[in-house]
Amino acid sequence: MHTFYVPPPQILTDTVTITGSEQHHLRNVLRLTSGVTVRIIDGQGSVYIAEVLDTGTNRVSSAARILSHESHAKVSPALTLFQGLPKNDKMELILQKTTEIGVAQIVPIHSEHALQNPSQNRYERWHRVVISATKQCKRAWLPELCESQTFEASLAQLEKFSLRLILNPQIEQESQAQHIKTVLRARSQPTSIALFVGPEGGFSKQEVTAAIESGCIPVTLGTNILRTETAAIVAVAIAAYEYQL
Ligand code: SAM
Repeated sequence: MHTFYVPPPQILTDTVTITGSEQHHLRNVLRLTSGVTVRIIDGQGSVYIAEVLDTGTNRVSSAARILSHESHAKVSPALTLFQGLPKNDKMELILQKTTEIGVAQIVPIHSEHALQNPSQNRYERWHRVVISATKQCKRAWLPELCESQTFEASLAQLEKFSLRLILNPQIEQESQAQHIKTVLRARSQPTSIALFVGPEGGFSKQEVTAAIESGCIPVTLGTNILRTETAAIVAVAIAAYEYQL
């Protein structure tokens, strides 16, 4: 059964209005016809089974009648990925895979070695990647893709997280970072996790120090230095394994 993302305002008691790229996908790509049963997610935990009533051949919307509805609770702990902006299209891979694995929120961050300033077009593309991955993996909650912000602004929001981690490779002998497994296993289950991953050039020493002063625990993923996209995916997968996201 095909899945479509429809924001809550377009879902009424009995009917769903499918517009924009989702309607294009339904009508022009998949060429679904009236009577076909589809799965609708609103990205806020609701999943509907609905019957297409009208594909809207000459209109900008398709209509479907709701047959059933299920509500899904948010996954806990809620994992927020603070990702140092990588070059080129690596962010798309990070968004796609971490959405599939179970991240709740993604915050692209500008740090000392991450100077990309995403254009509006790129940002909209990222949003489509998140929607597509959400549909593909059949999760009920759409991860929140935040506007990019500075590293300092990210640190300022850390109080609301019950566990804060910064991925910091063990490059120097004096590095205090413990393995992520040791840190996760030593604590009772948090309700929310902030996870900082550096860009290609890593975090600066000053940034790591500031993060530690803001309550972040420096952690490693082992002795190999991973690419930023690999590190983000591996760390989110480790949290998903540990807490069964
Ligand atoms: N030379 C860079 C440095 O000094 O950090 C390497 C950066 S690495 C390519 C990009 C980011 O991935 C790092 O900032 C870190 O957040 C994460 N990372 C990569 N490998 C890691 C590891 N083994 N342990 C912890 N974090 C790692």
